[in-house]
Amino acid sequence: MIHDLLPFLFSGDLPDLWTRAGGGQGFGGGGSSGGGSSGGGGGGDSSGLIQLLLWLLIRHPQIGVPVLIVVVLVWAFSRHTASVGGRNERQVYRTAAPPPSTTSILALQQRDPNFSVILFLDLARLVYVRAQEARGTGELGPVAPYLSPAALASLQSRSATSEVRDVIIGASRIQNVQISSNEARISVLLEANYTEKIADKTSQRWVMERWTFRRAANTLSPGPDRMRTLSCANCGSPMDTTREGRCRNCDSLLTDARIQWQVEAIALLDQKLLPRILLQKGGGVEKGTDLPLVAAPDLPAAARALSARHPELHWPDFRRRVEEIFVEIQTAWSEGTWEKARPYETDFLFQQHRYWIERYAREGLRNRSADLRVTEVVPAKIAVDAYFETITVRIFARMKDWTEDKGGQVLGGSPTQDRVFSEYWTFIRSAGKAAKPRDNLHSCPSCGAPLDKVNQSGVCGYCDAKITGGEFDWVLAAIDQDEVYGG
Ligand SMILES: [Zn+2]
Ligand SMILES: [Zn+2]
Repeated sequence: MIHDLLPFLFSGDLPDLWTRAGGGQGFGGGGSSGGGSSGGGGGGDSSGLIQLLLWLLIRHPQIGVPVLIVVVLVWAFSRHTASVGGRNERQVYRTAAPPPSTTSILALQQRDPNFSVILFLDLARLVYVRAQEARGTGELGPVAPYLSPAALASLQSRSATSEVRDVIIGASRIQNVQISSNEARISVLLEANYTEKIADKTSQRWVMERWTFRRAANTLSPGPDRMRTLSCANCGSPMDTTREGRCRNCDSLLTDARIQWQVEAIALLDQKLLPRILLQKGGGVEKGTDLPLVAAPDLPAAARALSARHPELHWPDFRRRVEEIFVEIQTAWSEGTWEKARPYETDFLFQQHRYWIERYAREGLRNRSADLRVTEVVPAKIAVDAYFETITVRIFARMKDWTEDKGGQVLGGSPTQDRVFSEYWTFIRSAGKAAKPRDNLHSCPSCGAPLDKVNQSGVCGYCDAKITGGEFDWVLAAIDQDEVYGG
C-alpha cells in the first residue's frame, strides 16, 4: 500500500534526530512506563471535556451534538485500543505535546498574519528541488535570489556533478522557528533522494538536510501564486533579476530577504546510496495501529471554530469524502492507474507517489491490494491560516496488500490475509469560501465536467482551473504513519 513505501526509505532507519524532532517523544511509550502519566493527563482532559459538552449540548446543541459524536467516537476508539493493547488505564485520548515550533509560528503570525505553514513548505521544497538541479547544470537561473552566498557556497562544495535529476522529497517539516527583533528564521528538515551523475557514473542518493530560511519578520507573506512559483514576491512576475538582484519588472531588490524567504544556511546531515526496496512481510496488525490517538490540545475548540466559520460543513459529509478519496487513491495505486489519483492530491504528494510507482516498476515490482475497508475515521487536528483550512484525521482500515513480480508471483505481503493499519491523512482547502456542493468525486470541483482531462499539473482541461491546490475542494496534502505522527 502507498503508506508503506516512504517509511522504508525515508524513516525506516533514521537516527533519533528525525523521529524525535518536533515533539515526537514518547510515541512508543503509551503502553508501559508512559501509561501512568498519559492516563492521568487523559483523565484531566475528559472532565474538562464533559463540562464543555454539557454546556454545549444545553446552550448550543447544533454544535454540541456533532462534538458529542466526535467525543464518543474518540472514546470508543481509545477503549478499543486499550483492550487491543492489553492496557486498562482509562485513557480518553492522548493530547499531542505541541511541537516546539507551534508557539513561535503563532508569534510569527502576529507579525505576518499571512504566514502559512503550507505555503512556506511549498516554497521551501520548490527552492530545494530547483537548487539541487542547478548544482548539476551550474545555471542558478530563477532560484538565485533565494540563496544567500553562504548557502550557495555550501551547495557548490559538494561533489562536482554534471547532472542532478529526479529530486524527490520524501519528508519535510519545520524543525525550528526563531524570531529576533527584525528577523525570522525557520529551519526545515528535508529527506530526499535524487539521481546524480559524477564523472559519467550515475547513482541514486538518499540525503537528510537542514535548510535554514531567513526573512524580515514584519513582511506580509504573498499568496499562493507567489509562494508556489519562483516569482517576484512584490509584483508576481516570473523570477528574472538584474545582476544586482533587482526584479526586471518592478525593480524590487530580491536578494536581501526583505520581502521573501532566502536560504541562509544548508547543513547536509546524512547521506548514503539509495538502498533497494524492502518488501514487507504478510498480513497482521501493523506496528503503531494500537497507539492512542494523537489529538491536538485545542481540537474541541478548533472544531467549534470551524463549525462557526463553515456552518455548511458537516462531519458526516467530510468523513464520507475522506473515505471516498481514501478508496479512490488506494484503488488507483493498486491498479497502476495513477493518473486517476491526480485530482485528489497536492502536487507535492502526487509527484512523491508517482516516483514510487515508477521505482517499483523499474525493479519489476507491483504493489497490489484488495478488499479495502475503512473501519474508522477520527478527527485529530483542525487548523486555519490566512489561506487554508486544514483537517487531519486518523483513518483505520484493513485490506489485503501484497507485492508481486511481473509474472504475478507474490514476493511480499499477503493476498489472503488482511493487513490492519491506521494512518494520519491531512487535507487542505482554501479558507474563507464554502465549497460548492458536489454529488460525487468524479467531477471537476470548479466546472463540474468529468475528470478525464486533468493534466499532470492538476489543471482541468475543460475550465483550465488548477484543482489540486485546495482552491476548490479538499485535497490530500500529507500522509503520516501512526508511529511517527507528531500532531
Ligand atoms: Zn517584481
Ligand atoms: Zn473544470
